[in-house]
Amino acid sequence: MTILVHSNSELRTALNGLSNNICLVPTMGALHEGHASLIKLAKKYVGSTGCVIVSDFVNPKQFGVNEDFEKYPRNLDSDLIVAQNAGANILWAPDVKDVYPGQWPLEVETDLRFEILEGRNRPGHFSAVIEVVTRLFDIVQPNAAVFGEKDFQQLILIKEMANKRNPKIGIIAGPTRRDKDELALSSRNVYLSSDQRNAAALIPQALKLAIKESKNGANVEMLKSIVKNKLKESDLIEIDYVEILGNDLNAIGANENARILIAVKLGDTRLIDNMSVQLKGNL
Ligand code: AMP
Repeated sequence: MTILVHSNSELRTALNGLSNNICLVPTMGALHEGHASLIKLAKKYVGSTGCVIVSDFVNPKQFGVNEDFEKYPRNLDSDLIVAQNAGANILWAPDVKDVYPGQWPLEVETDLRFEILEGRNRPGHFSAVIEVVTRLFDIVQPNAAVFGEKDFQQLILIKEMANKRNPKIGIIAGPTRRDKDELALSSRNVYLSSDQRNAAALIPQALKLAIKESKNGANVEMLKSIVKNKLKESDLIEIDYVEILGNDLNAIGANENARILIAVKLGDTRLIDNMSVQLKGNL
């Protein structure tokens, strides 16, 4: 049975009597099987007696002025069903005033990696993500938290923030859950028309082609071209970026396990994806 709570005091009351071995799964709601897989991972981490809290909060601060904050899909009823089926103990849907009580500033230490990839056209996005996660951690004080590899840049930046600020909180990475045609599940997929949805299957195809060609010796520049050419098979896809970086999001070094990261737009919908690639010998 999953308990639905809103305010921080309701959360505290619900936690009374439950285990204090807590794993937090931060989400913006519109829960799908990708989120469910993270909840199951959290449950595995805390065991049957531990407590999994799923936060369900569309954080206004991390959306830019022209982004989709207003129309971002929200459905608490279906979120409760997904959370319950995946084994969450508490679904916590706070209000803005619960997460941002008062106006005290919270300094976020940034570096160049906040400004690349997703940060390039979304100024302030990652500072806002780090801020909200820090506030959620402060309110819940979990033992661990789960984040998806789907948002790879977010995962890496949060991991480093947590290591510095909350070293006792274990950060667990969940693999990306995909649809039958391997498109990564995303709350934003509901915006796609059926033509756009079909074209979006080129995203995982492009990533997998690059992995295959890296094994055949293609170097980084060749791999980026291969990915771009694959994506260009549909004129519904507008490429934002195709990058290959080290696993810490710094430039790739020698013999590195790297990450290919893609962002595209289909109409007004922006989708991201990434996969791991082994670049040994073909930098
Ligand atoms: P969101 O609600 O989109 O902010 O995502 C909440 C968490 O779910 C983040 O840690 C995401 O990386 C993760 N997530 C989103 N999509 C997927 C997916 N397809 N597979 C696994 N995790 C995901």
